[in-house]
Amino acid sequence: MIRKQRLALLGSTGSIGTQTLDIVRRRPEEFEITTLTAGSRWEKLVEQALEFKPDSVVIANEKHYKAVSEALASEPIKVYAGSDALSQVVAGGEVDTVVNALVGYAGMLPSIAAVRASKRLALANKESLVVAGEHIMREAAERNVPILPIDSEHSAIFQCLVGETSPVRRVIITASGGPFLRTPAERLADVTVEQALAHPNWSMGAKITIDSSTLVNKGFEVIEAKWLFGLKPEQIDVLVHPQSIVHSMVEFDDGAIKAQLGTPDMHLPIQYALRFPERGELGEDRLSFEKLATLTFEKPDLVRFPLLQTAYDCLRKGGNSCCVMNGANEVAVAAFLRGEIKYTDIQRVIIGTLERAQFVAAPSIEDYAASNEESRRIAHEIIQN
Ligand code: NDP
Ligand code: MG
Repeated sequence: MIRKQRLALLGSTGSIGTQTLDIVRRRPEEFEITTLTAGSRWEKLVEQALEFKPDSVVIANEKHYKAVSEALASEPIKVYAGSDALSQVVAGGEVDTVVNALVGYAGMLPSIAAVRASKRLALANKESLVVAGEHIMREAAERNVPILPIDSEHSAIFQCLVGETSPVRRVIITASGGPFLRTPAERLADVTVEQALAHPNWSMGAKITIDSSTLVNKGFEVIEAKWLFGLKPEQIDVLVHPQSIVHSMVEFDDGAIKAQLGTPDMHLPIQYALRFPERGELGEDRLSFEKLATLTFEKPDLVRFPLLQTAYDCLRKGGNSCCVMNGANEVAVAAFLRGEIKYTDIQRVIIGTLERAQFVAAPSIEDYAASNEESRRIAHEIIQN
């Protein structure tokens, strides 16, 4: 009998986390969960633990430790709390694959821990690569650790590259354009949280949904693509494709362009990352060309969505710039979601933070931590004034 693949699933209570568990539930003969982790939603974590019987769980927010321990007292499941425990469960234990479905900067150190422990990394947490892509890719290459993208655009590019030995000329990352694709500039200042959370095609966690609406998510995906596929910024283009059917494309020197198409459903890239190089049955919802109306493509509007350009600028500048952009964005998005700032203040906070944060040309992992702290502090100051 072939041994089951043992998964440590970080961020199991989120959008990607729960969809990963859907795949595991459908294929109990293939996968086994060794670790589940949540930030604060401890009841959901307990429910998942009772269903999937992992060896351990981590609740990052320590104030829920007691509740989780008591709820799982009769189970042979170790309970840990705090964010350091995330990296520890990744590094120790009987784990084949770490699925990093955490959101934000919190995912970066666990990604490093996975790579350093030579665990295969199925990566949804794009912020890991935005902050520390250079380190993570170098350390993974040194140890021959596979990093399998879950982000749909990067999974599409990865799928297009299977079997290719020729260099990539260019990749085209598609963007839905988000809920404000046609909203006039003067109306953007007054959009509500509810409007920003209503993504036309994808159902995702709140932070990435806001990032999609500002195109920060697309900017982060450009950065993610640079590191995953070893590209220069000028080899990465973004095209708005409101139907979200073509998930991304790769162009080669002979002019051939390969694309991966499908319905907008994250189960496919998640399953592909877990089962690579094998595909397998997956649900009923199949793409029908007869039923498709049209597929359209257009250039993104950098006047209304300047943060996509900001991400390219940070990528070109290098050093800790992308880390600063990420930290400021996290603070700004959280403040917008709490109703403390206007939608268009998100860009004001990010650009203001980038102007003030100290530039570090060749940061270490410790420098990223310091830079993340500094950028968050500056972003808070900008919001308070
Ligand atoms: P969610 O917000 O839905 O889930 C995030 C998960 O991380 C939850 O389990 C949450 O716990 C946990 N978490 C949040 N903050 C912390 C923290 N500080 N420490 C420890 N755990 C924490 O996010 P998504 O699933 O939408 O996104 C996850 C990642 O995948 C992001 O990087 C996103 O960009 C990327 N991604 C997501 C896609 C999607 O369709 N959702 C598509 C492509 C990429 P709790 O539930 O307790 O809050
Ligand atoms: Mg994506």
